[in-house]
Amino acid sequence: MATSSGLVWFRRDLRLGDNPAWAAASSEHQEITALFVLDPALLNRASSRRVARLLGDLAALDESLADHGGRLLVRVGNPESVVPEEARRLGVSAVHLNHDVTPYSTARDNVVKQQITELGIDWIPEWGTLVHEPGRIFTKAGSLSQVFTPFFRVWERTAWSPWPAQGDAEITADPGDGIPQSERPYPVLDGETGDAALAGERGAQARLDLAVYRADSYDGDRNTPSVLGTSQLSIDLRFGTLSPRFIAQAVGESSAGRAALVRQLAWRDWYAHLLFATPTLVEQPMKPQYAAIQWRQDDKSFDAWKNGCTGYPFVDAGMRQLKKTGWMHNRVRMVTASFLVKNLLIDWRRGERYFRHVLLDADVSQNVGNWQWVAGTGPDASPYNRVFNPVLQGQRFDTEGDYIRRWVPELAVLDAKAIHEPWAVGPLELAAAGVELGTDYPEPIVDLAFSRGRVLDAYGAVKR
Ligand SMILES: Cc1cc2nc3c(=O)[nH]c(=O)nc-3n(C[C@H](O)[C@H](O)[C@H](O)COP(=O)(O)OP(=O)(O)OC[C@H]3O[C@@H](n4cnc5c(N)ncnc54)[C@H](O)[C@@H]3O)c2cc1C
Repeated sequence: MATSSGLVWFRRDLRLGDNPAWAAASSEHQEITALFVLDPALLNRASSRRVARLLGDLAALDESLADHGGRLLVRVGNPESVVPEEARRLGVSAVHLNHDVTPYSTARDNVVKQQITELGIDWIPEWGTLVHEPGRIFTKAGSLSQVFTPFFRVWERTAWSPWPAQGDAEITADPGDGIPQSERPYPVLDGETGDAALAGERGAQARLDLAVYRADSYDGDRNTPSVLGTSQLSIDLRFGTLSPRFIAQAVGESSAGRAALVRQLAWRDWYAHLLFATPTLVEQPMKPQYAAIQWRQDDKSFDAWKNGCTGYPFVDAGMRQLKKTGWMHNRVRMVTASFLVKNLLIDWRRGERYFRHVLLDADVSQNVGNWQWVAGTGPDASPYNRVFNPVLQGQRFDTEGDYIRRWVPELAVLDAKAIHEPWAVGPLELAAAGVELGTDYPEPIVDLAFSRGRVLDAYGAVKR
């Protein structure tokens, strides 16, 4: 029987549907309050575009709560003090939440949990951000696999069901005396990017419908950055406006494309499980011998990489897409990351921090896992001696140069061959196209053959 009142602390699960913490609280209590704490420590690390997206999603959550007669209580401050303060003020009997996997959230939650339990209030965590929670996907050896494929074999055989529906608790409409709440405090649209930014669950549902519609061709299109070939659901997954179980169910496995898309959710789970099991991954290479690599401290090249001015068009197109929109295609993330680590021999952690700041879908477990994969320092990593050639990658995955043309407009007039390596084109041909290297577009900042040898030496030295 429903009793008392409860508090739901929303974090990366900004939805009411398919949300186990919300479902549990709304069926266990007569009255519930929905709380979000804007933590300056996290806000200060995010790009303004990501903060705008968060605020839009919060406004949408507030609107969904209003449909049920409630409101979202938003507080700014350190959750370690704000959450216990609100729990005490509201006189709730339980705090409900969905777990996260990062070292920061684990440390924070331990502090909050201790205070909540000292107040005699129940602390009720659920797992609502992954298909399978950490600790559920163990191989026969009884441990988390350090290689993806064995993990995936168990993952796909492990049953799950959608989380329960919302219960019938009353949602608090005015959660506090003296806490000002304007009518609609946050923007719903992200005017800066203007792209698919209809916030919250409703926007997410529309994006999911589109992704499901295109899912059959996912397998064929996913590596072509010039087309809308992937689901682009990573931002909704990051803020939790969609649950991964809901996506997996909607996509299904009825074609090779659909199965391939669902498999990507297993990669997401795997990186989350790995970080939860090994929090040091954020700073330290999974393979300890690589801690001794002598990285170069080359700020000028790092800035050129960040700003899309390396002189390698496919790399520059990716970095400019990221800077302009806060999102980058996965194939190009791999190539740009590899260029920083392998061709410029710059520490993967610098690149990871930059991506973490700018990406709208920035997710520590996914970002760190993928950067370590590219650097060859992590689990199931690409071999250290695999150095992506950014020209060949561009020629293979952006054959006509359309992606480069979109993001590097100064090269748009070049034909499909020249656009991938403008330095190899004769000066007359370049002049005829109105492009002067070093003026309109940079000369390559590093020689590919030389840098390949340099990185193999650096990795080879610590492998021995
Ligand atoms: C250097 C680097 C950094 C990355 N940083 C992040 C990050 O901070 N946040 C993030 O969500 N993804 C990250 N990725 C993984 C991947 O690039 C994005 O998830 C993907 O591009 C998002 O686009 P999508 O939603 O269209 O993906 P789809 O191809 O449509 O895939 C569907 C979902 O599966 C998951 N997925 C897909 N590819 C991967 C992958 N390689 N690893 C883990 N999960 C995956 C994502 O949740 C994605 O939304 C990174 C990859 C690289 C190489």
